[in-house]
Amino acid sequence: MRLSGITPSGHTQLGNHLGAIARWAAGGGADDLYFVADLHAMTTTHNPAALRARASEMLAVLIAAGIAPERVFVQSDLARELGALTWALECTCSYGEAARMIQFKEKAGGRSGVRLSLLTYPVLMAADILLLGADEVPVGEDQSQHVELARALARRFNSTYGEVFTVPRPVLPLTGARVRDLADPARKMSKSTRDSAGVVFVLDEPDLIRRKIRRAVTDAHSVPAYSPDDRPGVSNLLEILGACTGVTPQEAAAAHTSYGQLKEAVADAVIETLRPIRERTLSLLADPVELDRVRKAGATRAAERGEHRLSSALRLIGAG
Ligand code: AMP
Repeated sequence: MRLSGITPSGHTQLGNHLGAIARWAAGGGADDLYFVADLHAMTTTHNPAALRARASEMLAVLIAAGIAPERVFVQSDLARELGALTWALECTCSYGEAARMIQFKEKAGGRSGVRLSLLTYPVLMAADILLLGADEVPVGEDQSQHVELARALARRFNSTYGEVFTVPRPVLPLTGARVRDLADPARKMSKSTRDSAGVVFVLDEPDLIRRKIRRAVTDAHSVPAYSPDDRPGVSNLLEILGACTGVTPQEAAAAHTSYGQLKEAVADAVIETLRPIRERTLSLLADPVELDRVRKAGATRAAERGEHRLSSALRLIGAG
């Protein structure tokens, strides 16, 4: 069983869709679960109302993109279960192990004023994984150390207190497109980038998408060619077009003779790819009663899947 999460640290963007969500919707095992990791979006200064709104929106986007509603849940709906398991796992983890995490060192930068949750969130991530019994966790480079921590904690808990947890292993994420920022192709498109000129959001209106793509940074050439290292801007557009239309970037390059023509084709393809998702998301958000029903059903199902592990873990560690 695979478990993947997406943090509502911003609005869902095209890279999330092409690189992850579209793949999640298209494939995977029947038991796989996907979640909106809203508790993970609280480790730095956050706005509660904005976070709540983004979490609902992201849940709607995942369902609108075609992930079966019974495979999706919002992390905070399992806050009680995850909070309890995080505590048991923190009592299995040393301070040094947590403080060694590269992400913590980078983000904390030695400042003692950072939230304690910045140090402990990898343990919450271990709780996400271990509660649900995921044996495969698709993660990028930046998160693989955290899955190693989850493995170490699962093994230690099992050998110290009793066999409860499946020992997870990190697996490479399903390979999707790597989408770069349109305004700065040196960096990847990200939902938390402050300047959104180069970021296409899944819920952007078609006109805005077209404007952002028309303004995409390219280079001094005029005829499209796929060469990611020395022509990252136009290569990014070709990858996006390829991912949206099911052709290779090279084929996309061969089909266009000017940057202007290519940009219009990319805009058309992105708009048509996102249109049904945008429409379904907006109609889900317009029916909060139905969205809430789906959300509760997903949470109940996920909680049921983890219940026996949580109660065994608490009993074995001596709680209750
Ligand atoms: P994040 O936005 O970091 O929470 O990532 C959620 C998922 O979207 C992960 O599976 C990422 O690998 C994927 N993702 C995020 N940004 C991009 C991007 N620019 N290109 C491709 N995949 C992305």
